[in-house]
Amino acid sequence: MALKSVHSLSIPTCISSVHNTRSRSRFSIFPALNKSPRLSHSVRVMGSYASSQKPDNVQEASSIGYASISEEEWKKRLTKEQFYITRQKGTERAFTGEYWNTKTPGTYHCICCDTPLFESSTKFDSGTGWPSYYQPLGNNVKSKLDLSIIFMPRQEVLCSVCDAHLGHVFDDGPPPTGKRYCINSASLKLKPK
Ligand SMILES: [Zn+2]
Repeated sequence: MALKSVHSLSIPTCISSVHNTRSRSRFSIFPALNKSPRLSHSVRVMGSYASSQKPDNVQEASSIGYASISEEEWKKRLTKEQFYITRQKGTERAFTGEYWNTKTPGTYHCICCDTPLFESSTKFDSGTGWPSYYQPLGNNVKSKLDLSIIFMPRQEVLCSVCDAHLGHVFDDGPPPTGKRYCINSASLKLKPK
């Protein structure tokens, strides 16, 4: 891990206290764009290494219809926050999203294209302030390498059908998969059972 060099680099304040957080949540959280003061001491980057997970085999044809939707059209269809998260790869503040603490049984769908992405039965309390799941539904979620933070490669998670940015996946999740899908509430719509 590259954590030893972190302190000498000019990095966002939200990930500058990595060294002091060993005893806190066993899960890391999104490092980017989180400016909440109360979280500034509890953020760490553990678990954010490049995952060995391969992108799922996605049918190319399934996303053709959504690829042609313009940014302007997405802006009309989504709220400002939903657009920022899903189409501009934004991150909502921890503990502020609609679903971070939700335990309602049901299925979480893509806010953009309504594809079912996660079942509530795979949701678990990660302590991060974002809804977290250990498994997506089928191949409806894909991942790809995210190098937006140069010393911290991560696996971005996207909707396989419409390419909406959902969050990131880490390898420190619970059994049976060991995966932790750390997802923005704003990219989801829960349909209760
Ligand atoms: Zn979608």
